[in-house]
Amino acid sequence: MRTIKQDKIMILVTEKYQKVKEKTYVAPCIRCGCDDINIDVYEDKYGDIITITCKNCKNETKKGGIVGWNNENDIDVVLSNKIKAFENLKVEISELKKLKNKRRIS
Ligand SMILES: [Zn+2]
Repeated sequence: MRTIKQDKIMILVTEKYQKVKEKTYVAPCIRCGCDDINIDVYEDKYGDIITITCKNCKNETKKGGIVGWNNENDIDVVLSNKIKAFENLKVEISELKKLKNKRRIS
C-alpha cells in the first residue's frame, strides 16, 4: 500500500488492486492543518479496512474511509454539516415551544 501526493489529490494504490489507481481528494487535518496524511488499507474477512492518520498530530479516522476522514476534516464539509445540524435544532426548538404552548392552553 502506498500513496502518492499530487497537490491535494492522493493517488491510492492498494496491493490488492495494484493496477487500479484511485484519485481522491484527502482534506488536510482539521486539528493542525497538516496535509501529510497517511492512509493504511488492509483486508479482513469483512473487506477493506482503511485507517487514515495525520502524520503530524496523529488525528485518526477509522470509520468511512476517505469520505469519513473528509467529513471530519474538510472545513467546508464540517461547517456545512454543523450549519445543517443547527438549522434542524432551531426547527426542533420551535416545534417544542409550540407544543409546550399548546399543552399549556389545553
Ligand atoms: Zn493533524
